[in-house]
Amino acid sequence: MDEATAKQRMAELQQQLERYNEEYYVQDAPSVTDYEYDMLLRELETLEQQYPQFAAADSPTKHVGGAASRTFEKVPHTVQMMSLQDVFSYEEMNAFVQKCQEELENPEFSVEPKIDGLSVSLEYTNGVFTRGSTRGDGFVGEDVTANLMTIANIPKKLEHAPAFLEVRGEVYMPRKSFAALVEQQELNGETPAKNPRNAAAGSLRQKNAVVTAQRSLDIWIFNIQQIDGEILSEHIESLEYLRKLGFPTVIPHSKPLRTAEEIRAEIAAIGEAKLHYAYDTDGVVVKVNSFAQREEMGATSKVPKWAAAFKFPPEEKETTLREIQLSVGRTGVITPVAIFDPVQLAGTEVARATLHNQDFITERDIRLGDTIVVRKAGEIIPEVLRVKCHAEGALPYQLPNACPVCHTQAVRDPEEAAIRCPNPDCPAQLMKRMIHFVSKDAMNIDGLGPQNLAALQENGLVHSVADLYSLKKK
Ligand SMILES: [Zn+2]
Repeated sequence: MDEATAKQRMAELQQQLERYNEEYYVQDAPSVTDYEYDMLLRELETLEQQYPQFAAADSPTKHVGGAASRTFEKVPHTVQMMSLQDVFSYEEMNAFVQKCQEELENPEFSVEPKIDGLSVSLEYTNGVFTRGSTRGDGFVGEDVTANLMTIANIPKKLEHAPAFLEVRGEVYMPRKSFAALVEQQELNGETPAKNPRNAAAGSLRQKNAVVTAQRSLDIWIFNIQQIDGEILSEHIESLEYLRKLGFPTVIPHSKPLRTAEEIRAEIAAIGEAKLHYAYDTDGVVVKVNSFAQREEMGATSKVPKWAAAFKFPPEEKETTLREIQLSVGRTGVITPVAIFDPVQLAGTEVARATLHNQDFITERDIRLGDTIVVRKAGEIIPEVLRVKCHAEGALPYQLPNACPVCHTQAVRDPEEAAIRCPNPDCPAQLMKRMIHFVSKDAMNIDGLGPQNLAALQENGLVHSVADLYSLKKK
């Protein structure tokens, strides 16, 4: 193999492996077997040894801590990572509180937001973060230490630490990072992540910790699983202790609560406040505060009897689909956008949502005029969940075969769901490129917004991004 061929093959392999990584974590539907993936990775490794000058800095072969294999080591949990009993109404919550009050003497409760993420265990020996794992089935999880190492808010070393400490936390993807990830995926014509939780789970289970590092994951710690060298007797006290050690912990109601009424008021308050959190909250966890009382109540085989999770109902709205607009991106990807009668969702008025591509529309059989159910994924990105009923006489919707702006025949990459306008001079693409070019993320040119750019383009003054620099003042 000559140098040029090697260089080209390495670029191909890198691209391919990155795509498989994406498929593996975003869609939970890899298109190749682990074996095929490993073989391609090995081929790239071999080429990188022979031609180190062509090895990319962010190559899929480069793993943080050298511990990113295709399959994760199993980690048995000494203390079972239990799930929680869910309750879906205040009546059920009252019944839970009442049961605790019957079995325990004057129980106190901690009330805290339930973060919608992925549960993990972190182990510290003499203050050093030694191992992190997923919950798995509660008894055995996966070793994802290398990936957890990339999360900035996880302390790697603790001052004044106990001899041994195992804490439990929830890894999540902040809404902002989720929105950015989806935008990037749309731009690349990939199927976007469904919600922050799926995105977080996929990101944490990346084979390549470098990819995890790019996902801006974060964590809240909410429990001590094991501790050796410190005596703690209450939950809220233990969270304060963890905070002092340097952990980001969930913030429960500042003092323990005693009555069902107080708990109900706090759940309602969190329900109001959650819209403004930087992360998704799908409920509120109510726990008996005293460890001794927890022992007293015990657990079933799956859930502790001393805790309950109040689940907020998902906010969904029905509306009418009025139109499907086609938007041409700066890379030529043609994205259908649903325009519907405005509805209030997660505190704002929403009237449009991306329909991604033809596959998305076909799977849900979305037709013009349909009554549709919409919601906000991660309380930030509007999405069409499903069709409630078709409009009378409506026909299945087909994306047109041509670019809506320059009318060039659209093309579909067989490996992607998206269709593209292949015309490099397409005015729609040029507009998006210019908007991107002058934006804060790129050249940050003041005074050139989409409106001014549109005026310039309509008057034939710009035909490329370079033209922006040869504009005369007149
Ligand atoms: Zn076009």
